[in-house]
Amino acid sequence: MRLSIHQFRIALQAALPVAIGRGLAALLLVLTAPVAVHLWLCGARVRRTPRLGRHGALVMERTLVNRAGAPVALFHALPRLVNLAKGDLSWVGPAAREVGSRELRTEKGRVVVSVPPGLFSTWKLRQRTNVAYGTQNDIDAEYVRTRSLRANGGILLRSLLASLYGGETRGELADRADILGLPLDNLSMDQAIDAILTPAARLRQVSFINVDCVNLSHRDAAYRSALMHSDLRLADGIGLRIAGRILRSEIRQNVNGTDLFPLLLARLAASGQSLFLLGGRPGVADDVAAWAQANYTGARIAGTAHGYFAPNEEGALIERINQSGAAILLVAFGAPRQEKWIERNAGRLHVHAALGVGGLFDFYAGRIPRAPQWLRELGLEWAFRLYQEPGRMWRRYLVGNVVFLSKVMTERAKRQLGIRQIQEQVNS
Ligand code: UDP
Repeated sequence: MRLSIHQFRIALQAALPVAIGRGLAALLLVLTAPVAVHLWLCGARVRRTPRLGRHGALVMERTLVNRAGAPVALFHALPRLVNLAKGDLSWVGPAAREVGSRELRTEKGRVVVSVPPGLFSTWKLRQRTNVAYGTQNDIDAEYVRTRSLRANGGILLRSLLASLYGGETRGELADRADILGLPLDNLSMDQAIDAILTPAARLRQVSFINVDCVNLSHRDAAYRSALMHSDLRLADGIGLRIAGRILRSEIRQNVNGTDLFPLLLARLAASGQSLFLLGGRPGVADDVAAWAQANYTGARIAGTAHGYFAPNEEGALIERINQSGAAILLVAFGAPRQEKWIERNAGRLHVHAALGVGGLFDFYAGRIPRAPQWLRELGLEWAFRLYQEPGRMWRRYLVGNVVFLSKVMTERAKRQLGIRQIQEQVNS
């Protein structure tokens, strides 16, 4: 069979990065050989773990463990260079699956892992920054669909940067997390949506809590009370994840309103329950409703209203919300106004759940662009907001983040001091 120049170029374009990746791994293997020999002389051994590789074939993933079988710090992944040089792992790809786990398939049932699993993957990257929503299959399928040399470079770079925030969340996490005196419901995005959609006899208030909200709750007693009376307090943003790490109260996932909204619409489209959108400038909620109906066929928007009404119009507005038959109400007045409003009116509203969602409508109405996915994967959505509106946001983010982190560090120091004092008492 003869290849045309065009076909040859395409084949070369596909083969070259693979060859470079394998060559680089081989070179690193040679360069790190003295370290490997030293670790081996100290008793370290290679552990082989079976994984599902390309087209579901078995791959022995190599890692370095000590005599007790625990991972060798810093050099745990060193033997994976052998997998990379052999080509049964690639630098970037879908995350390697455990044997016995469901293989990645398309809706038509065809295995789509036509590429080797990656040392770095979108799935692991998003897990690190707490934004791995949906299933590993969904995220891997997205990777395979959008795969390119440039995309791989981005995933590699972001994975290295994200490793600065600490490792992936592991093991069993507590159902509650406590961050600077605010008890949080430590739910995943899916669990939070399940909880929101479960019908209840009385209204449930749902609050998203980010770094700014924690700071605000320390200055505004009425806002703090509204948060404490909320039925669900959800951890929003990378700041809470970092705080959770520092305070040993790990956060399961970044459950923010903006990522929750489309997932909620998809579920509402299936369940037939409807949504009322309240807030934003005149016309904004209508644009969000139009966007929702265009993108989530079957999602019912029971009504919309802007968020700039006079106090004497409030009664009629609440009546309209109740008459609409909506199951869920989104209130987008910004914090702390929206949380206080929901708390104050909880007894008059007939919806199952009311969520304070901040500036979300402005994103989905197309008024304010949202940070690109790659920035969100790095946990830097806040930096994008700062870049968009520096005049309004500098105090919230530049001052707020520093204040928050210093409070977190003080809290940790206090806890450590407490533990030390208890130990001293026990010893004396
Ligand atoms: N807003 C409103 N009514 C008001 C004040 C504000 O509906 O009386 C809306 C405003 O139009 C914007 C949102 O509330 O859409 C506040 O956005 P911001 O980004 O400040 O909220 P955050 O997400 O930071 O809490």
